Amino acid sequence: AALALRRVGELGSGTYFFYERMLNARMQVRRRLETGLREALIADEFELAFQPIVSLSTDRIVGAEALLRWQRSCGTGIPPSDFIPVAEDLGIIAPLGAWVIEQACHAAAKWPADMVVAVNLSPVQFETPGLVRIVADALTASGLSASRLQLEITESMLLHDNAVNLSILDQLSELGVSIALDDFGTGYSSLSCLQNYPIQEIKIDKGFIRKIEFDSYSVKIVRMCVELARGIGCTVVAEGVETAAECQILRDVGSDLAQGYYFSKPLKPHDFEVFVAGFHNRIVENNV
Ligand code: C2E
Ligand code: MG
Ligand code: MG
Repeated sequence: AALALRRVGELGSGTYFFYERMLNARMQVRRRLETGLREALIADEFELAFQPIVSLSTDRIVGAEALLRWQRSCGTGIPPSDFIPVAEDLGIIAPLGAWVIEQACHAAAKWPADMVVAVNLSPVQFETPGLVRIVADALTASGLSASRLQLEITESMLLHDNAVNLSILDQLSELGVSIALDDFGTGYSSLSCLQNYPIQEIKIDKGFIRKIEFDSYSVKIVRMCVELARGIGCTVVAEGVETAAECQILRDVGSDLAQGYYFSKPLKPHDFEVFVAGFHNRIVENNV
């Protein structure tokens, strides 16, 4: 009964679930994930990958998003969508998220001085006291200028406790860090988020970009997002760009920035530095 009840909790309200044997197997997988996660931070099994973000007007890499990777000692890689919810439940996301901020700042301090690093924040991390201090300390320790750090939040984080959220975002903005609204268009309250909080960038969710090549309705939605962003003085990033055709449509609708497999998959820190140098050299060679 407890397992069935737990499954209902995972599926969301307004549903029911009968006990099934497979719930035992799910529970065992979950327990292994929990034990593994508790050990992983100490065992140094996490690393960051960086995915370039490209300006569609200059064709230069303006920065990268830091994406967490968990490579178990047995060699298996576990995707963030599997382990981040568990890390949130266990409260491990706070130290893990702090580690991500520190590592991302440290890596970005070695990049060309005009490049920004974007770090994803979990709602749990956002609610944990001390976030502003963690960010300030990471900037000081790495020597990275605050204007080169961007924090990505999602609308779901901003649904409750408006005054508290606003205060945290204001303190982060006062440090000089910029805030991006990730997965834009997939939540409930995007427009009020833009109205109420200090947000400088919106990232259009890849779910919209995936369809633009074949669906004129999706192009209209993306164009509307770009115009909205422009109207309120935000920059806009299109996420999940996979093809040259998608890239061209995004140029046509005026998107500032793009990120996706078309340019590069997320790369290990050293590979990212090599990629940036090669990408920019290629532009110089093409212009000669
Ligand atoms: P996100 O922040 O929206 O990150 C973008 C995701 O899209 C990444 O998946 C990236 O690898 C993937 N992606 C990039 N380009 C393409 C593309 O062209 N096509 C497709 N199909 N996918 C693309 P990833 O790395 O698996 O991360 C998934 C999510 O996990 C992230 O979504 C973010 O919400 C979360 N996440 C990752 N790293 C962290 C972290 O350090 N902290 C927190 N709190 N969440 C993180
Ligand atoms: Mg993100
Ligand atoms: Mg996203």
